[in-house]
Amino acid sequence: MANKWVYLFSEGNANMRELLGGKGANLAEMTSLGLPVPQGFTITTEACTQYYEDGREINEEIQGQINEYIGKMEEITGKKFGDLENPLLVSVRSGARASMPGMMDTILNLGLNEEVVEVIAKKSNNPRWAWDCYRRFIQMYSDVVMEVGKKYFEELIDEMKTKKGVTQDVELDADDLKELASQFKAEYKAKIGVDFPDDPKEQLMGAIKAVFRSWDNPRANVYRRDNDIPYSWGTAVNVQSMAFGNMGDDCGTGVAFTRDPATGEKKLMGEFLTNAQGEDVVAGVRTPMPIAQMAETFPEAFAQFQTVCKTLEDHYRDMQDMEFTVENKKLYMLQTRNGKRTAQAALKIACDLVDEGMRTEAEAVAMIDPRNLDTLLHPQFDAAALKAATPIGKGLGASPGAACGKVVFTAEDAEAWNAKGEKVVLVRLETSPEDITGMKASQGILTVRGGMTSHAAVVARGMGTCCVSGCGDINMDEANKKFTLAGKEFHEGDYISIDGSTGNIYDGVIPTVDATIAGEFGRIMSWADKYRKLKVRTNADTPADAKKARELGAEGIGLCRTEHMFFEEDRIAAFREMICSDTVEEREAALEKILPYQQGDFEALYEALEGNPVTIRFLDPPLHEFVPTEEADIEKLAAAQGKSVDTIKAIIASLHEFNPMMGHRGCRLAVTYPEIAKMQTKAVIRAAINVKKAHPDWTVKPEIMIPLVCEVKELKYVKKMVVETADAEIAAAGIELEYEVGTMIEIPRAALTADEIATEADFFCFGTNDLTQMTFGFSRDDAGKFLNAYYDAKIFENDPFAKLDQTGVGKLMETAIKLGKPVNNKLHVGICGEHGGDPSSVEFCHKIGLDYVSCSPFRVPIARLAAAQAAI
Ligand code: ADP
Ligand code: MG
Ligand code: MG
Repeated sequence: MANKWVYLFSEGNANMRELLGGKGANLAEMTSLGLPVPQGFTITTEACTQYYEDGREINEEIQGQINEYIGKMEEITGKKFGDLENPLLVSVRSGARASMPGMMDTILNLGLNEEVVEVIAKKSNNPRWAWDCYRRFIQMYSDVVMEVGKKYFEELIDEMKTKKGVTQDVELDADDLKELASQFKAEYKAKIGVDFPDDPKEQLMGAIKAVFRSWDNPRANVYRRDNDIPYSWGTAVNVQSMAFGNMGDDCGTGVAFTRDPATGEKKLMGEFLTNAQGEDVVAGVRTPMPIAQMAETFPEAFAQFQTVCKTLEDHYRDMQDMEFTVENKKLYMLQTRNGKRTAQAALKIACDLVDEGMRTEAEAVAMIDPRNLDTLLHPQFDAAALKAATPIGKGLGASPGAACGKVVFTAEDAEAWNAKGEKVVLVRLETSPEDITGMKASQGILTVRGGMTSHAAVVARGMGTCCVSGCGDINMDEANKKFTLAGKEFHEGDYISIDGSTGNIYDGVIPTVDATIAGEFGRIMSWADKYRKLKVRTNADTPADAKKARELGAEGIGLCRTEHMFFEEDRIAAFREMICSDTVEEREAALEKILPYQQGDFEALYEALEGNPVTIRFLDPPLHEFVPTEEADIEKLAAAQGKSVDTIKAIIASLHEFNPMMGHRGCRLAVTYPEIAKMQTKAVIRAAINVKKAHPDWTVKPEIMIPLVCEVKELKYVKKMVVETADAEIAAAGIELEYEVGTMIEIPRAALTADEIATEADFFCFGTNDLTQMTFGFSRDDAGKFLNAYYDAKIFENDPFAKLDQTGVGKLMETAIKLGKPVNNKLHVGICGEHGGDPSSVEFCHKIGLDYVSCSPFRVPIARLAAAQAAI
């Protein structure tokens, strides 16, 4: 049997989201729930994939089925495409499996042409509406086909408004809109080179193609990468008969949430605009009214809508985000989905749903996107400073958080300033999808126009970036990069602070403080801890980091990098002396100066960890990273060593390496300079002994980690001197102390020979940053130069340094575990690369049987939640 590429709404259901996309599946589900949905059909995501396989063509089989379904739709609606009696007008809407807000364009009122528009103008006795529909159709269709056409059409509209002396689109009359329609068509012909299509079927195929093509536009590609959506999924296309919100004052269109997407509070939230269509509400062109006001204007439709909200929430057992239209007082549902929400709201809603008996604790844990928690862990305004400050303006608190930074006016500037290390707040009239990368580069976003569902608000919430929208008091002059608010003129680079919870705007800098886990956050995390199997440790080099991580739930340190401890003023001098020494004795003397500092560092770490495990990695980077570069420092070192400046310079020059990352580093340093490893061993063991004496009830069991091992004999060699040194220290102290010596697995050869290495190692820790670069054979410091080209060419979908490459690097990890565990049943295994805090990588670590993940302190809650989700 031939493939089925097309489904009527009445043929699908919510479980078919892979095939029908989220929007299509939910339109089908709403249809079967008996809700008022304008009917239509969905062309599957498989058809999109097929379109790309066929070299960006819709093949005949698919075209045939589309035509067949137009016929079915004509039967259902009793209208006909291009008909002069009763014409069928449709929307063409994209809809991927995961919602991608604003990423792909919708075309409304398709099916209109010069003849049909006259027919509907006459029949409805509403020529303004008819021409408004037509000009919108040409505009949207052209924009999609031309890909970046928006601005041309907006210019034409602005010119028309100026000519007529009006400010609002709704003030344009039928003749103006008719005039605009013909200007638009001329613009289309000028840009594309052919006439604007009149045949509805040709329009429809063109539109479907454009939606398929939009799956591959740069914005969509960036969004997918940020949100872990595979390119291979494709998008579905929904063809739906139109409901008209722009027929007059008893019509309108709106969006609403069943609970507050910013706070999670259980109350209907949303916005409504009379005599409007489609994106008008979210585009921020006119400021919409709050949904509650709809009760007065459209009492019947509003009452019905409230019932629909309850039906949908009970059905999906989650907060719903809905789009609807009222045509001549009658309600039509156009979309529903589990609403995007802030992290704060997500936690509250999950807890409330448990308390309302709608969800189990495990389901509540599974509902939270771990990546979202990030925002809660970001700083908030210092409460005292905030109280003392007076807001200079107020907008809508569209996405919570605190942002403080320098004002910039364009997305490009935001990116450029951010690249220079500046913190910026992007201030715009309104944002559009093109601004996404600039929004990402900003601490916060402030817009003059737009409501809670404006583009800026939706995208900012998705990114977890603070956003204040719709501050109409701002007098904006984008062209000259300045604005005035509360009588003050702000220029590029001036400091501003915004509060995404209250919507308050402050002049200047308001200091921020770290966040804590409490309330609903605490409840969800305690549920998560019940389910997870993986332990979560942290990468911390200082007692302060360790303490923070413990507060956030870390159960130990998985990686303490000792190298930063060498950079403090006194130590670096001693360490440089060590590097420039000629004899072992001189080296030992220099290291002897560092020992007490290092011991103190470790004591403080053990104290902070209160008996939880601490893994200390021995010196890893190449020595040239420590030598002086400034002339004055070189002279100082020469004097201290009694050597000439030239001799020192020669030593420094001799440390030069072509590929330092693959050079003289890691355990290779311990082989060539055993004194360093011995000194570090003494520091670790002496610190442990002291802390154990002070706290006899704590388990103090140092884990010494040898980096960059590629061969068992190498580990054996280094381990021998560690053990001899450690045992001598322990014997001298006359105390019992257990310790472990393990290794990082970060060179492919180590993974491949893990059965040998495991005979000498008490533990493995995957250093996936190095393991990734060694496996791919490219350096994480240089990959940025070509990775973008790899994304564009679809060779890579993600940065392998951010998201673990499960296929290659993951296979090495699995291999190492499979080889290592059988030869050493005490072997414990963890991961301490950046990936330790990435949810999908955590899930993978759970799957292949790691004992723990270790990540930076602020990612600890994310890892805890991701580990629970992997286990549920
Ligand atoms: P997005 O995925 O960007 O939200 P949609 O496909 O939901 O795009 O379309 C955007 C808007 O267009 C909808 O919110 C709705 O207002 C309007 N729209 C889409 N289809 C129809 C329709 N059949 N009738 C009336 N309005 C529609
Ligand atoms: Mg929508
Ligand atoms: Mg490493």
